Amino acid sequence: MNQPGTQLSLFESRPSKEAFVVRVSARARRLTARVHVGGRVEIVVPKGVGPTMVRDFVQRSSGWIERTVAAMRSSAPVEEPVPREIRFDFCAERFAVEWRPGPARTPREHGARLIVGAPDAGTARRLLRRWLKRAALARLAPALLALAAERRVEVARVVARCQRTRWGSCSTRGTISLNASLLFLREPVVRYLFAHELAHLQHMNHSRRFWRLVESLEPDYRRLDRELLGGWRSVPAWVHEG
Ligand SMILES: [Zn+2]
Repeated sequence: MNQPGTQLSLFESRPSKEAFVVRVSARARRLTARVHVGGRVEIVVPKGVGPTMVRDFVQRSSGWIERTVAAMRSSAPVEEPVPREIRFDFCAERFAVEWRPGPARTPREHGARLIVGAPDAGTARRLLRRWLKRAALARLAPALLALAAERRVEVARVVARCQRTRWGSCSTRGTISLNASLLFLREPVVRYLFAHELAHLQHMNHSRRFWRLVESLEPDYRRLDRELLGGWRSVPAWVHEG
């Protein structure tokens, strides 16, 4: 694959339908992904398999996982309310969400208020997800491009997506895709993800040379990589649906 995206969706266990659970099994011979009814995803990891291998495995399986979870979800839809508040840790921003039942209207920011018009909760969440992608691009892209300029790396394009299994990815053409949910993470962790993706512009793999480059960009990368791995816990449920 020529798109070595980063980061898995390895959550630790939590009592939510959104959770990815990583289970280390002494009996397992190989890495497997399982999707349970309702869309809960479990990654079974044989003893002794390190995070990098797990990461690569989840990355390779991400298409299958997304499709399977979507199929499970559509057969058992879960209604959740519209969030009352949205917090972006990345830039210490907070919005009070006001849902106005009625015709669908693109969410508008009024200072710390976010007003969304929608006939039902599902539509409101869909509109909020669209807004989240725009908000992410507006906040994340300048920071990424500034770091790229500082490092004299050329980025062709930046896009924001709502994905379940990766925090970012980078194409051979120099497009960097960022997960809009990075906004829910701490700034140092997001900066590490930026360094990771910028390093992929030079090394399209997770080789030793790649990690050495990451280290030169972000010396504390090991700790931040672990934090990023658990970052899915910070993503609210309304971001993922269908
Ligand atoms: Zn990577």
